[in-house]
Amino acid sequence: MELESILLPGVDAKRPLILAGPCSAETEEQVMQTARGLASLGIKIFRAGIWKPRTKPGGFEGIGVKGLPWLKRVKTELGMYTAVEVATAKHVREALAHDVDILWIGARTTANPFAVQEIADALEGTDIPVFIKNPVNPDLDLWIGAIERVHNAGVRKIAAIHRGFSSFDKKIYRNLPQWHIPIELHRQLPNLPIICDPSHIGGKRELIAPLCQQAMDLNFDGLIIESHCNPEKAWSDASQQVTPDVLDFIINNLVIRDITQTTENLSMLRRQIDELDNNLLELLAKRMRVSKEIGQYKKEHNMPILQAQRYDEILKHRISQAEQMGMDGEFMKTVLVAIHEESVRHQQEIMKQ
Ligand code: PEP
Ligand code: MN
Repeated sequence: MELESILLPGVDAKRPLILAGPCSAETEEQVMQTARGLASLGIKIFRAGIWKPRTKPGGFEGIGVKGLPWLKRVKTELGMYTAVEVATAKHVREALAHDVDILWIGARTTANPFAVQEIADALEGTDIPVFIKNPVNPDLDLWIGAIERVHNAGVRKIAAIHRGFSSFDKKIYRNLPQWHIPIELHRQLPNLPIICDPSHIGGKRELIAPLCQQAMDLNFDGLIIESHCNPEKAWSDASQQVTPDVLDFIINNLVIRDITQTTENLSMLRRQIDELDNNLLELLAKRMRVSKEIGQYKKEHNMPILQAQRYDEILKHRISQAEQMGMDGEFMKTVLVAIHEESVRHQQEIMKQ
């Protein structure tokens, strides 16, 4: 994935790119205290929700424009970049007017093409990085559609954020990871950086570390993690936020596997597997050709297709050979039965002719 395309000056090109900060900006003190904690850990990008799309009315709906000058302080006093969620053209204009550095489109907004188009239109002529969360529903085309709308507006610093998908019954996860969806996104758009949001996938503090590790093992480029100076007292998403210290512990314990090394070794091994599979296919095709000749012979000599004794001998003999070669007898039986079935099918065709 191409992390370079979204990097801002001074931000390390090494995985994982980290964005951290509270679910919501609540007070100037909470913003500054959390940001100080994160800055002291070397975190460069501060996230904070200013406008909060709540599932039900009555939850904390965000502090609004009043919080944007607090983010400006985070920039000027701590030298961090800032990122906020935008859901309307007005949010885009206000965020830009207050020098926010990165915008993200939330999951509920991505699910609505009208809203995404409105945001995209407001972004025309800017080159601010825009990160696009997956829609709440597991619809890859809808996600890609939102990415295309933003791209068509001329934005070139684009990343995707994987935050999991809603489901009716919530068990372990708040939002199911369904990793195959971001993996398929990567297959279709290989140059698009993908960032994982373990906070909204997990919904619980304890799940953040294992989800971060999974994302790293799947080669995600970055992580966006909710961090709050006093998580239990957070005005939104209290159960999934961690203090900057806990975040530091989580990040330091991540095992980042060396991509180039492993993929080089792996690609050599994979080439061998491809070649061996080719050999297997050619051998199987050859075996079928010989079996057809046997079928022809049986037809000419009025013999039945199935020679039970011969089949029995083949099975016994091959299974014990396989076991001597370190393979499971049951496995070999499955393979032989499948091969025999296909042979019989070919011979039946010949009988019918
Ligand atoms: C958030 O990042 O705080 C948020 C509201 O996330 P999502 O859009 O993924 O629900
Ligand atoms: Mn949140």
